[in-house]
Amino acid sequence: MDRYASEFPFELRTCRWAERAWPPEAAASDDRAFLVARQLGTKRRRWDTIVLECDPGALRERAKFGLERLDSDLLHVVRNAPAEWSYYRDCLPHPGYPWRYVREAIHRADDRGILETRRAGNRIEIRRKWPYPDWLERIVAIENKPDLDRSAARVLGAQLEYDVAMGLADEVWVATRTTGDRVEPALFEDLPVEAGILALDPETLAAEVAWYPRSLAVDEPGTRILERPEGGERDGSAARFEYVDPDEKAETRLEIAERAYERGWRSFVDTMRPDCRYFELRAREGAHLEPYCAAKERCQTAAECSGGCSAFEPEPPVWRTNGWPIEGGPGKRTRKLLEARRRRQRPGL
Ligand code: SF4
Repeated sequence: MDRYASEFPFELRTCRWAERAWPPEAAASDDRAFLVARQLGTKRRRWDTIVLECDPGALRERAKFGLERLDSDLLHVVRNAPAEWSYYRDCLPHPGYPWRYVREAIHRADDRGILETRRAGNRIEIRRKWPYPDWLERIVAIENKPDLDRSAARVLGAQLEYDVAMGLADEVWVATRTTGDRVEPALFEDLPVEAGILALDPETLAAEVAWYPRSLAVDEPGTRILERPEGGERDGSAARFEYVDPDEKAETRLEIAERAYERGWRSFVDTMRPDCRYFELRAREGAHLEPYCAAKERCQTAAECSGGCSAFEPEPPVWRTNGWPIEGGPGKRTRKLLEARRRRQRPGL
C-alpha cells in the first residue's frame, strides 16, 4: 500500500527531511540553526511546513524564556522592558489598546519568571531579566502536495500568489513527490516563478531542487489579496487588496516564529487520540516516529483521529499501570516521547 499518497504522512516526512537536511543547498560555512514546525500561519493563510532559520547564539538565549510561546502582549512587554527599574507606563510604548491588558501581560510574564516586577506605592515597576534576543533570521514556507495534478496546482497557485504578494515568508516552496522523470511534472504547472519546487522521495528522504525560489521582500510593504475574480477569463470584476506595512509584517513574523518554537512539528499528537487503544507510534529509519492506526492498518490523518472516529476505543485502564513499549503504547507515554524530542531541537532548554 502507498502510505504517502495522502498529504498528512507526506507532510510529516517533509518535516523530518527539513529537520535533517535543511537547507537543500547547504554550504560548509552555514552555521545557522533551523527549527521546523507545521500548520502555522495567519488567519487567512496557513502553511503546511515552516522552517525557521535562526541565529544559533540568539536561539540559545531565547530558551531562557521557556518552551512556551510569547504571544503579542508578552512580546510587547519583554522586548521593551528596561534594564533598570521603571514604572511600566514610562518605559513601555503605548500599546494601542487599554493599559489594563498590559498590566495583565506583566503579571503573566512575572508568573512565568521572565520579567521582574515590584510595587512602588500603587505603581507597578518592571525590569527585564534578559534582553529578548533577535533570534529569527528567515521564515521558509513549504506547501506539501505529494500528487501535484492540474487541479491541485490551480488551488496551490492562487495560495502561492497570495504569499508572494504578501511577502510574509522569505521563501515559499512546494514539496512534491519525486517522479523519477527527467523533468519533474510540477515544473509544467502554472505556479508563480518565485516559488521553489522540491522533489522529495518520502521513503528514502532523498530530495532534489527542481526549481530554486526567489527571496521575497519581507522588509517592504506587502499586498494582501482579499478577493480575486473567480469567474474565469470572462470575469471582468476587480480584485480587492490592501497594503500591509512592514512593521505589521515583522510583528506577525515574530508571532508565527514564537508559535513554531513552542509547537514544532511533532505536536500532531495534540490534535489526535493517542489515548485510543489503536493508536501507535511506529519508528521509521530508527528515529522518525509516525502515527499509525492499528484498526485502519495505516497512518491515519489528524482529521480522522479525533473524538468523532467511529473506531475509537479507549485504552484499557490496565495499560496505564504498567510499562509499555513504544509501539502500541498509551497516550501519555506517546506525548512525553514526542515532547522530549521537541525539546532536543531547542538548544539551551
Ligand atoms: S481508531 Fe480512530 S481514534 Fe483510534 S487511533 Fe485509529 S483513527 Fe485514531
